[in-house]
Amino acid sequence: MKRSIFSIVILVLAVFKSSICFAQFPILDYYDNPRPKVVATGEISKDGGVAAPSDAISMFNGKDFSEWKGNPKWIIKDGTITCFPGSGYLYSKREFADFQLHVEFKFAEDITGPDNMRGNSGIFLHGLYEIQILETYQNFNKFHVNGYAGSIYTQHAPLVNPMHKPGEWNTFEIIFTAPSFNPDGSYRTNPRVTVLFNGILVQNNAIIYGLTAGARVEQKTKGGIAIQEHGSTVTFRNIWVREL
Ligand code: MG
Repeated sequence: MKRSIFSIVILVLAVFKSSICFAQFPILDYYDNPRPKVVATGEISKDGGVAAPSDAISMFNGKDFSEWKGNPKWIIKDGTITCFPGSGYLYSKREFADFQLHVEFKFAEDITGPDNMRGNSGIFLHGLYEIQILETYQNFNKFHVNGYAGSIYTQHAPLVNPMHKPGEWNTFEIIFTAPSFNPDGSYRTNPRVTVLFNGILVQNNAIIYGLTAGARVEQKTKGGIAIQEHGSTVTFRNIWVREL
């Protein structure tokens, strides 16, 4: 008797399990939910530069600092901008909540400097959370891994190191989800970030635990983008943002 009850229980569980495994999501055809907007992709240059798509905000027009605060000392040349020791951070005028940010950067072919003074810059999301830029093509054996290019500085090392050699352009594709806050200022939901570095995933919807070192503004649900000057020379182009 006991054995037959046991068999029935096993049979019921098996049927229940198979119904879960093979349950299909209902087929629903949506026609006006709404329709995805048509977006024209940006032009791609011979050396891999990706211009802004039609729905993006271009953060640098190749000519002036109209999207950036103050009167930056950075050098504009041939559609690029370059920071150098003493040039200071670049702060965007606009603020964003969730966004996709595309940015391209390179180091001089004859780059010099040791450790964190070798091509150090960074993209500060909301001005608070740094995605590190550092010359880690040659300079990666001695440096702490959560300070590599593509790291969330001192929080998450990049999953891999796809850095191009000095003199060649690199690309960050950054997808940022803004935090939300409790009344006491603590995170209700942490900020999160996905980063593709030269097309390779290096941060996969990673949780950002808090401000990274070097952050210089108060945290809030919207914020600007800052590009770091950290005693190094780094050149940028094709900086654009899509608000999400
Ligand atoms: Mg940095």
